[in-house]
Amino acid sequence: MTKNTDIAVIGAGPAGANAALAGARYGFSVTLIDEQPGAGGQVWRAKSTAILDSPTTPETVAGNRLRQEVDESSVTHLGEARVWQIERGEEGANLYLLRQGRSDVLHARALIIATGAREFVQPVPGWTTPGVLGLAGATALFKQEMVPPGKRTIVSGTGPLVFFVASEIRRLGGEVAAVITPNSRGDWLGCLPAMASRPDLLLRGGRWIADLILANVPIHWRYAVTRVEGETRVAGVEFRKLTVDWSPTGAARRIEGDSLCLGNGLIPTTEAAQLAGLGLEHSPRLGGWIPCNGEDGATDIGGIFLCGDGTGIRGAAAAEFHGRLAGLSAAQHLGADTMGERNRLRAFYDRAARFGTAMTSLSIPRAGLAQLTTDETIVCRCESLSRADIAAEISSGAGSTNAVKSGLRAGMGPCGGKFCQTAVSRMITEAEGRAEADVPPPTPRPPLRPVPVAALAGDFNYSDLPIPKPAPL
Ligand SMILES: Cc1cc2nc3c(=O)[nH]c(=O)nc-3n(C[C@H](O)[C@H](O)[C@H](O)COP(=O)(O)OP(=O)(O)OC[C@H]3O[C@@H](n4cnc5c(N)ncnc54)[C@H](O)[C@@H]3O)c2cc1C
Repeated sequence: MTKNTDIAVIGAGPAGANAALAGARYGFSVTLIDEQPGAGGQVWRAKSTAILDSPTTPETVAGNRLRQEVDESSVTHLGEARVWQIERGEEGANLYLLRQGRSDVLHARALIIATGAREFVQPVPGWTTPGVLGLAGATALFKQEMVPPGKRTIVSGTGPLVFFVASEIRRLGGEVAAVITPNSRGDWLGCLPAMASRPDLLLRGGRWIADLILANVPIHWRYAVTRVEGETRVAGVEFRKLTVDWSPTGAARRIEGDSLCLGNGLIPTTEAAQLAGLGLEHSPRLGGWIPCNGEDGATDIGGIFLCGDGTGIRGAAAAEFHGRLAGLSAAQHLGADTMGERNRLRAFYDRAARFGTAMTSLSIPRAGLAQLTTDETIVCRCESLSRADIAAEISSGAGSTNAVKSGLRAGMGPCGGKFCQTAVSRMITEAEGRAEADVPPPTPRPPLRPVPVAALAGDFNYSDLPIPKPAPL
């Protein structure tokens, strides 16, 4: 059965939830859809019900405030609902939703896509060993379950997340064996002028680093993990010094630990925007490929709007304002006059975006980091394909991500390419001496998320199925 709404928003993170609230304030019916049960997205993820009494953090406070605002508004929030297909109509779009084991269709006159980002991990030998978690993924564990990843954790990666994760592990009672980051102290100092645009956030980051220094946690600047040790469980890591372009150099050092948090920045998720018909452009300073979008989240397609990290990695503070701007743009599209409010909001968005893009510049991997992936390293986890398998496919003529995908199934497993596509694209650029901007991600296909066949088939009795007449001989 098809239901109708004025505005549908995919993603209830800081961007999407604020977009929904902004649209609803102008009297439009708004449906906010997210696969997580509560609003808040990645950064303001709700605690599981088992630990509701545990101490609050700035993230839980901000998330609780947002969830309360959504609950008290006229927004219809559909939690645990996955959008698996988007079809554009004459006005707006039809969304195919999987919820409570059923697939339903929602028609929206205006659609706001706020699907956020995903994590990039440069594959290193042993990165698939149990006990290795994504750096960003680990924050989900802390916020939702409030447990550290192990007893003694090595935390390695780029940008501010490495310090947040290390200090959270300590707050939750775990030991941090070491912090290993490709960034240098000089990289951080270079970002100070831009970071000064949000002194509150700068101070918070400073506290994470101070906490680690006071606790004598070793911080290895301009180093990277080059191998994970352990057969059935992480036992330790090898790590090496990096050059300015982050190529490994010098002798390997060792450190023991039972778990590793590893990550190298975030990548905007573009698949929903692509299914809605939007083209992509390459923007290295915003994290790579982003859907083409203009002022206040407007796009070339009337009735389709974008906001948040899915349009480029600018962080949660910017996502909040970008969401409000996109919600107001959608309301304007449906007939409201929101120009004055948008004019007032833009300065707040620009200030937060300035801080966020400085953090992104620290997180983006430099070219040499690709050398951490050796021939034997698994690159596509779902299909167990090593770097050598993918390199052979590329050298046999597969010069695009689509060609590697159809030849080897890299990106066709349950993760839909979330883990391997960026590494595959970078392998093609490296092998063929092409620019990253010449190697776009593969064409996304529905379903955006796994859908059980039973949900598509719905309820039926075998006896009701029409039996085709026998074909004439
Ligand atoms: C795993 C992870 C952890 C992070 N942790 C932190 C952190 O601790 N601190 C920090 O400052 N930044 C963190 N970030 C970055 C942070 O997410 C962003 O800066 C900020 O949350 C962006 O807000 P957003 O609303 O654009 O996206 P998000 O907060 O990512 O929200 C996007 C939402 O869209 C939903 N969604 C996506 N596709 C679909 C679909 N097809 N159907 C239904 N729902 C869908 C997702 O479930 C998600 O809730 C993290 C990023 C990731 C990927």
